[in-house]
Amino acid sequence: MKVPYFDLKMQTSAIRGELERAIATQLDDCSFCLGPAVAQFEKSFATYCDASHAVGFNSGTSALHVALRILNAKPGDEVITTPMTFVATSWAIVYTGAIPVFVDVDPLTANIDPAKVEAAITSRTIAVMPVHLYGQPCDLDPLLEVCRKHSLPLIEDAAQAHGARYKGRKIGTFGAMSGFSFYPGKNLGACGEAGALVTNSEAFAKRAKALREHGSTERYYHDEIGYNYRMEGIQGAVLNVKLAHLDTWTKRRREIAHRYHEKLKGLPLTLPIEPDYAESVYHLYVIRHPERDQIRDHLTKCDVGSALHYPLPVHLQKCFDYLGHKKGDFPGAEMVADQCLSLPIYPELTDEQVDYAADSLRSYFS
Ligand SMILES: *Cc1c(COP(=O)(O)O)cnc(C)c1O
Repeated sequence: MKVPYFDLKMQTSAIRGELERAIATQLDDCSFCLGPAVAQFEKSFATYCDASHAVGFNSGTSALHVALRILNAKPGDEVITTPMTFVATSWAIVYTGAIPVFVDVDPLTANIDPAKVEAAITSRTIAVMPVHLYGQPCDLDPLLEVCRKHSLPLIEDAAQAHGARYKGRKIGTFGAMSGFSFYPGKNLGACGEAGALVTNSEAFAKRAKALREHGSTERYYHDEIGYNYRMEGIQGAVLNVKLAHLDTWTKRRREIAHRYHEKLKGLPLTLPIEPDYAESVYHLYVIRHPERDQIRDHLTKCDVGSALHYPLPVHLQKCFDYLGHKKGDFPGAEMVADQCLSLPIYPELTDEQVDYAADSLRSYFS
């Protein structure tokens, strides 16, 4: 038996007819940048998130960047975020000239530790940007409480958490704005790059639409410096097709996660936990163990794919040398980075594959 870490071909071939028809319509209409398919997707995705507005972007990074532009982030401002994430969370901050101020994660969830946020707030702080890492909502209530106390907006990096719930309510509208990614490997993925900014504020949605389109609301009149961050028409059409399948796929991801949990409990591993407040969409299934590299080699020998999310926390990345961080600054994030191991989790996996992956892992310990 072979269990590839990820295989997008199975998803694509299962819905190939639908995708081809949707893409063919775009070719007929020649609406390649924004257009009716993107407008339709924005409407459907807003409904999906129980939000008033979703604005289509060419990537999740762009959506998060524009969210901070809307808050008028400027050089010298500080944005509080997590060091345990894909680096793009911090890109959004540094693109505005602002400085990422890291707060360590709770090692149990790998999400930002709300209890540590207040101590990181200064007079230059303009926002708090947590991440729902691996598809697991972070603990939003205590974060929002600190934000309210200091009159700070919260921006959710929801790139990995389409449809995840916090205390029963979908993530994406807990803060002022949120950024979603539709990178092909995400739970909802385009056939290319795409993202969305989600908000309940009409004013923010309007500004997001102007900023993604060269800073203009009227063609060839540019009120502020903007970007070419538009979603492509073909991606909107693809996302309309795939959004209809998302709940089925998420249900299967959760089934797989529970199957892993049942098969792996009792082993000397740290398994993902789902706190009472969270309903995870399991973008990733990340276990932890100090012998991570040896376990990974063992799985490779068994033909079970795996991956690392992420092997080096953001504060230790070379590109952020200028921030002056060192090993030991954020021990929670560093421990997660050293011990994390992502097992295959995607809707097309069979129960037999999941069992084989779990049994292979078990055999490391026997
Ligand atoms: C994927 C991802 C992003 C960036 O999204 P892109 O669409 O690839 O630009 C941002 N943050 C997190 C946590 C991500 O996983």
